Amino acid sequence: EKKELEQYIGKPTITKDGVSVELVANIGKPEDVEKVLQYDGEGVGLFRTEFLFMDRNLMPTENEQFEAYKKVAEALKGKPVIIRTLDIGGDKEIPYLGLAKDENPFLGYRAIRFCLDRKEDVYKPQLRALLRASAFGNIKIMIPLVTCIDEYREAKALIEELKAELDSQGIAYNKDIQVGIMVETAAASLIADIFAKEVDFFSIGTNDLTQYTMSVDRGNDKVSYLYSTFNPAVLRSIKRIISCAREAGIMVGMCGEAASDPMMIPLLLAFGLNEFSMSASAILKARKMITSYSVSELQAVADEAMSFATTKEVEDYMRAFINR
Ligand code: PEP
Ligand code: MG
Repeated sequence: EKKELEQYIGKPTITKDGVSVELVANIGKPEDVEKVLQYDGEGVGLFRTEFLFMDRNLMPTENEQFEAYKKVAEALKGKPVIIRTLDIGGDKEIPYLGLAKDENPFLGYRAIRFCLDRKEDVYKPQLRALLRASAFGNIKIMIPLVTCIDEYREAKALIEELKAELDSQGIAYNKDIQVGIMVETAAASLIADIFAKEVDFFSIGTNDLTQYTMSVDRGNDKVSYLYSTFNPAVLRSIKRIISCAREAGIMVGMCGEAASDPMMIPLLLAFGLNEFSMSASAILKARKMITSYSVSELQAVADEAMSFATTKEVEDYMRAFINR
């Protein structure tokens, strides 16, 4: 099977009826770019920067972060590299950040909420490092756990402030750097039409979108039977987020686990997803699948899948479709 998949190295990711999509990778450390290149990833769709902050006693400095981001940007040689700003919270232990334990960590003081509250010591150094690294490749900034437009505006204003600072210091950066959001909360999904008019791109985080749509802790086995991206509520949310992006003419990707799910890929193609981001080792299999479909033949499949009332009906139908 490995040999068979290797045929897909260097091939474009395009459907039988000519729809091109981007097939990119999720990474956590700069060293992971080797695998991205090995499996012919067309870029990085999600760099989870929290790994740079974990397993150490002190926060990485602006310069350390700059070196890490620059390394990835250079290795990808102009291909897109979407770097997500710190997505940390009460559930992940980073002792030196001095975070108290939240009673409800997934609904608490985390990600963009934390970063906007810690601009001087945490957010500004990271954003400055990202801007400086953007002179060395095609870096895009992505903001996690956004729920309202104010959060995006505040982050964007901070980026503009830092750009002016870099200008005054004569330090190079990409003036046109794109700033997008993870769409991974119920609130962001419901106002995706409003966000689409203001942000540069979307990436759908289905791991959290499923958790926050179904009110199910993504790590709790007792309620995991409710946790499915094929739940009709989650599917409707995904479909609408993609429509809102397409209507506004912005790029929409997906970096949650669902992006590499063989039963989900046909639906995402039918909905019009532009970019699929997954672990590097899943890329060639996904390229094989995507190039075997016509988007036009998938429309009826998606319509049928969207007509069911239960998760099980959707899953049974999609399983039968991919094994047809
Ligand atoms: C997601 O929520 O789908 C996602 C990609 O981010 P993480 O798994 O890091 O929360
Ligand atoms: Mg998430």
